[in-house]
Amino acid sequence: MATQNTTLLIIGGGPGGYVAAIRAGQLGIPTILIEGATPGGTCLNIGCIPSKALIHVANEFHALQAYAADSVLGIQAQAPVIDIARSVAWKDGIVKRLTGGVAALLKKHQVTVISGWARIVDGKTIDVEVPAVKGGRTQMQRIRCEHLVLATGSEPVELPFMPFGKQVITSTEALSPKKLPKRLAVVGGGYIGLELGTVYRKLGVDVDIIEAQSRILPSYDADLVKPVEIALRAMGVSIHTATRVLGLSEDGKGVRVQGTEGAQRIVAADQVLVAVGRRPRSRGFGLSTLMLDMEGLAVRIDDQCRTSMRNIWAIGDLTGEPMLAHRAMAQGEMVAEIIAGHTRRFVPASMPAVCFTDPEIACAGLSPEQAREAGLDVIEASFPFAANGRAMTLQSTDGFVRVVARHDNHLILGWQAVGRGVSELSAAFSQSIEMGACLEDVAGTIHAHPTLGEAVQEAALRALGRAVHI
Ligand code: FAD
Ligand code: NAD
Repeated sequence: MATQNTTLLIIGGGPGGYVAAIRAGQLGIPTILIEGATPGGTCLNIGCIPSKALIHVANEFHALQAYAADSVLGIQAQAPVIDIARSVAWKDGIVKRLTGGVAALLKKHQVTVISGWARIVDGKTIDVEVPAVKGGRTQMQRIRCEHLVLATGSEPVELPFMPFGKQVITSTEALSPKKLPKRLAVVGGGYIGLELGTVYRKLGVDVDIIEAQSRILPSYDADLVKPVEIALRAMGVSIHTATRVLGLSEDGKGVRVQGTEGAQRIVAADQVLVAVGRRPRSRGFGLSTLMLDMEGLAVRIDDQCRTSMRNIWAIGDLTGEPMLAHRAMAQGEMVAEIIAGHTRRFVPASMPAVCFTDPEIACAGLSPEQAREAGLDVIEASFPFAANGRAMTLQSTDGFVRVVARHDNHLILGWQAVGRGVSELSAAFSQSIEMGACLEDVAGTIHAHPTLGEAVQEAALRALGRAVHI
C-alpha cells in the first residue's frame, strides 16, 4: 500500500474542510484533503447554494404568476409555464461553477486533494480507498499525519417507520426533481421544510407542512415567525402543527398523521419530504476507534475545536448545532491558524442565522427573551417596514427590524428582522455586535436612502426614544 506523510490531513471537503485546507495552504502547512464525493460538501452541492438557486427560480415564477393574475404595477403578463428540468440544469450549472472554483482554489494553495472515502486507522493514520480509473483496480492509500481535522459534516435524519426511498425523499432529491409532484407533504417545519416547501408551493405544488411542535420554526421567536406563517397560509400552504406523522398510508397515497385531539387522518401526498433535522456524520469511517469524547453523535470540542485527543480537531456539522456553513468555515479557518502557531479561540460575539423563507428571517446575537433569561436588563425597540419608503417601493412592507441593547450602557446585544430581503441586513447586524457597537453608534451612522437598512438605524433611534420616521 502506498504511504504518504503530511503535516495536516483533513477528512471532508465541505465549507469546514475546504476553508481549513485553503487557509492552511496560505500559511504554508503541507496539507492533504480527502473528499469522498465532490469538493464543496453539503453546502455547495446539496444544501445552501442549490436551495437558494431554486428559491430564486420559484420567486421569479411566482412574480410572473402574480402579474398574470393582477397587474397592480401596470405589468401585464401571460401565465408562466415551468420547465423544471431546465431550472434544475441552471441550478446544477451554478453548483458546478462553485465546486470547480473550490477545486481550483485548493490547487492554487497547493493542497493535495485525494478523491475517496477515508477510514481512520488511528489518530495519525488514515486509509483511503481511491476509486479505480478507467477499468483499473481500486487503490488503497495510507496517509500519516501530525494533525487530523475531522470535517465529515452531517446527514439527514430518517424516520425509522418511513425510510427514504422513491416516495419519501430528503432535501437532496427535493433539490433535483425530475418532475414536480402534484401534492407534497413536508414533515418538519424547520429550515429545510419551510425553504423548500415555499419553493414547491410557488411552483404550483399543493404543499402540506406537518410539524410536531406547536408552531413552525420553533427555534425562532414567535413574533418573527408570525409573518412567515401568514404568508405561507396566504400562498395556500396547509400547516399542521402539534401533529405527529405515523407513517405512509396503506394505499401509499398520503401520510397518516395524528394531532393533539388524538384522531388519525390522512394527508394526501404523491411525495413526502422528510426534513426533521440533520445528524453529525460520525459513523462508518472508524471514528469510534479513537474513543473521542462525544455528545450524542457529535464530537465534543473546546473553544479551539480541539477534541479530547491531542492534535485531532473537529469542525462544522460533525460537532453539532448550530449546523451552519458560516460556522463551519470560521472554525476551519481558525484551526488552520492554530496549527500554524497563531493564538485563536472560537468565541464569536454572535452567530448570525438566516431563514430564506418569504419573508426572510435574520437574527444575530440575543433575542429579548434570551437576554432576559441571561439576567440582563435590556431595552428593545422595533421599526416596522410599513414605515420604510424602500420597503413600499419593493411591495414588501410586512415585517420589522428589532434591536436589543443593554439598558445601562446601550451596548447592542442582538438584532432580529423579518421581511423581504432582510438576509442582506445580517452583515450589519453581525458587524455591529462583533465591533461592540452601542445604539448611539448605529443611530449616528448615516444610512443611504432609500434602503431597507434605514430600518436598522431607525430601530436604534427608537430604542433611544428618538425615531424620526414613526
Ligand atoms: P459538509 O458540508 O456536510 O461536508 C462534509 C464533507 O465530508 C462532504 O462533502 C462529505 O462527502 C465528506 N465526507 C464525509 N465523510 C467522509 C469520509 N469518510 N471520507 C471522505 N469524505 C467524507 N447552512 C447555512 O449556513 N445557510 C444555508 O442557507 C443553508 N442551507 C442549507 C440547505 C440545505 C438543503 C441543507 C441540507 C443544509 C443547509 N445548510 C445551510 C447547512 C450547511 O450546508 C452545513 O452547515 C454545512 O455544509 C456544514 O459544513 P461541513 O463542512 O461541516 O460539512
Ligand atoms: P430543523 O431542525 O431546522 O427543523 C426540523 C423540524 O422538524 C423542527 O421544527 C422539528 O420540531 C420538526 N420535527 C422533528 N421531528 C419531527 C417529526 N417526527 N414530525 C414532525 N416534525 C418533526 O432541521 P432541517 O430543516 O432538517 O434542517 C437541518 C439543518 O440544516 C438545520 O438545523 C440548519 O442547521 C441547516 N439548514 C440551514 C439553513 C439556513 O441557514 N438557511 C437552511 C437549511 C438547513
